[in-house]
Amino acid sequence: MITKTKRAAAVIAALFMILTILMIYPFGLSAHAAAYAVWPTEPKFKNITTYFDAARNTNDVSGYHNGIDIEADGGSNIYAAVGGKVVAAEWMDAYGYTVIIQHPDLGVYTFYAHASQVLTSAGAQVKQGDVIGKVGSTGNSSGNHLHFGICDSLQAGWPARTYYDPMSYFAYSDNSGSGNTPAESPKTDCGCSEEYAGEYTTKGVVTYLNMRADHNTSSAVIGEIPAGAEFRVTRGNGEWAHVEYNGKSGFASMAYMEKKADLKSEIKIENVTAPEGNLDKGKTFSIKGNITSNLVITKVYGGVYFRSGEATSQCAEAAPNTIKYDLSTYFDKNIAFNALNDGEYTYKIVAEDKSGASVELVKTDFTIGSSAPKEVLGDLNSDGKLNVTDIVALQSYILGKNKEFTKEQYLASDMNKDGTVDIFDLTALKKAVVKATA
Ligand SMILES: [Zn+2]
Ligand SMILES: [Zn+2]
Repeated sequence: MITKTKRAAAVIAALFMILTILMIYPFGLSAHAAAYAVWPTEPKFKNITTYFDAARNTNDVSGYHNGIDIEADGGSNIYAAVGGKVVAAEWMDAYGYTVIIQHPDLGVYTFYAHASQVLTSAGAQVKQGDVIGKVGSTGNSSGNHLHFGICDSLQAGWPARTYYDPMSYFAYSDNSGSGNTPAESPKTDCGCSEEYAGEYTTKGVVTYLNMRADHNTSSAVIGEIPAGAEFRVTRGNGEWAHVEYNGKSGFASMAYMEKKADLKSEIKIENVTAPEGNLDKGKTFSIKGNITSNLVITKVYGGVYFRSGEATSQCAEAAPNTIKYDLSTYFDKNIAFNALNDGEYTYKIVAEDKSGASVELVKTDFTIGSSAPKEVLGDLNSDGKLNVTDIVALQSYILGKNKEFTKEQYLASDMNKDGTVDIFDLTALKKAVVKATA
């Protein structure tokens, strides 16, 4: 019973202009005290796709609509428009899951059909604005909506003539005022416990995690949680959880979710090509790498740095917001190795994901051109040859006269590669100089 008409807007606008009037007496209904009601769905859902048809009261067949259809997201709240006594909260064939509330002081019943879930039970006393169910598309329905009706009698437990137009019977408020705030969590006896409550994200999900109407895979899909999105779990039983995402409530399998506090990043890179050794100046180089993570990759950055650590102009940064990222899509096109001047460089790629982890995935050293200086063992003054000035330099260091050795000088001094610089290195250096200058 859904036809996508948008004519509701004008009617709703007119209705809300009279919100300050708490009581209205629609024509022909003076026998009933009309009342101030709350809108039976979440306030953002105002599109009426099918209106009430008064002909139903003379020709009682389902082709004449006995209520209004309010288009609303599956799993969103259904509120008691007015307080009263629940007389039915059950499966009712073509109506699907349905709640019927009796309002003795008004002489009418309100009924709420096609729910994905009923959250009250027959005999319960509900207050105006209480959550009594969740919107769905059960029974004879072609999409998520609330079929909301008002009638003055029941026949064998079913809504029956006379029906009233819900749009003119009540003056509505948005159910956001004090006193009408809906209960925080659904009142169900499913046995789920709050020990699972917390902020979660998806686990092992590539596209989206289904939100369902109940704790099983045979219940209707009422929404989707995108891979990597964060959502709230209010209760769970280890296998199924009550989830809230983007204003919707439903159920989702706990096999595909992970509590945020437990997040461990499994970020990694495969199929890497990275520059190493010596590259000729002006030559191109294609970098590759497929980054994956169990969590959404929030940032990838890196490229070419001078060996001292400062970034060159050949760097890039991306915010993939997916669980996969291919460096060849953007980094390879934006890092121009053929634009690098002669020198010593470091190439590195760093990725961050939703856990907050920042991981250096690739780090290689390379040089451009042939003039890159080479370290020679014993060449303490970096003049490219071994001679007596190197001996003098090492001697003054060992004797404590020169305490200002650089890291490079220290490494060049460790002639016997034993990790320390001492008198044995000086002996070895003297031999090497004799040999080099012979
Ligand atoms: Zn309907
Ligand atoms: Zn449960």
